[in-house]
Amino acid sequence: MIELLGKSLVELQSLFEEHKIQKFRAKQLIDYIYHRHIFVFQDMTQFPKMLRDWLDANCIISIPKIVAQSISPDGKTQKLLLELIDHSRIEAVLMEQHYGNSVCVSSQVGCAMGCVFCASTQGGLFRDLTVAEIVGQVVLFSALKQEDIHSLVVMGAGEPLQNYDNVLQALKLIHDPITFDISYRKMTISTCGWVPNIYKLADEDLPITLALSLHATTDETRRKIMPVGSRYKLDEVLEAVKYYYEKTQRRITFEYILIDSINVSLEEAHELGKIGKEFPNCHVNLIPVNGNEHINLYKPSSKHMNIFKDIIASYGVSVTIRKEMGDAIQAACGQLKAAHGRKEEIHE
Ligand code: SAH
Repeated sequence: MIELLGKSLVELQSLFEEHKIQKFRAKQLIDYIYHRHIFVFQDMTQFPKMLRDWLDANCIISIPKIVAQSISPDGKTQKLLLELIDHSRIEAVLMEQHYGNSVCVSSQVGCAMGCVFCASTQGGLFRDLTVAEIVGQVVLFSALKQEDIHSLVVMGAGEPLQNYDNVLQALKLIHDPITFDISYRKMTISTCGWVPNIYKLADEDLPITLALSLHATTDETRRKIMPVGSRYKLDEVLEAVKYYYEKTQRRITFEYILIDSINVSLEEAHELGKIGKEFPNCHVNLIPVNGNEHINLYKPSSKHMNIFKDIIASYGVSVTIRKEMGDAIQAACGQLKAAHGRKEEIHE
């Protein structure tokens, strides 16, 4: 069966031409999928019966299946646990912000990075997501909401720069005016610091926003909580991020999880302020760690978090503490999936 989700207009046109189907049908198909949210071929009534039957016999549109859903008490954050065609499970989140709907997508099933604070990586990496599966998360939310999607963050499970080609292809499709028409400026890729592909992304000359999961100010601490820290030194990571900034002129976001007794000394706040100062217009996003029964890590007191933040701000760096809107719905990476038990998955 041929997967139609995630294919560009040009790809659909050449597929149709190959099968002697009129080329203009490709644009109609994109309209059905991305705007009218019709995924059943027989419901595509603009198509002649013969075409609908051919599509039924040869093609599929694999919209991920919703297994569980949790909505925050204020109704503004919605997290979905989704099942893919091979029964793998991933998570995707929709956040209603004041500026519009923002979707957070996963890029892999599981993750190879092994960060100690992250629920998504606990079972290791199972596989990369396909272009269709990445795009499918956005299609699903736009179908559920029946509203435009304003922005996109690739910050769910997985390391997006390890699934570089599929992530980029998905973003290019989502950017296309005939699908979602989301500008690259409203897309963010979050990475743990996969250095070679930070350079590669910079050289694409696309104004995508880069978020770096920094989480420590020394190699010693970073290595303790993020195994990738043994592969790439902090200096190398920051040099790559600097190159990204210089090439794209996009404001860099630094994510920094606040974990009590691990990375929140006042000295570390000063170091973070100094790092931020090196990146004009950057933003530091402080994230109180979300623990669970497997992740025995705790956030510092509110008082301490505010002192930490004020020190960074004293360097003239823009800094905020992330609202914990995810807490109520287990929005931290991988937690909904973990709560539903991994054993239900066929591959484990
Ligand atoms: N691999 C990419 C993207 C996935 S992780 C990266 O490392 O950036 C995305 C973000 O999820 C991380 O920056 C981290 O801030 C957040 N995250 C993961 N586990 C968390 C936890 N237990 N509590 C709070 N935030 C968490």
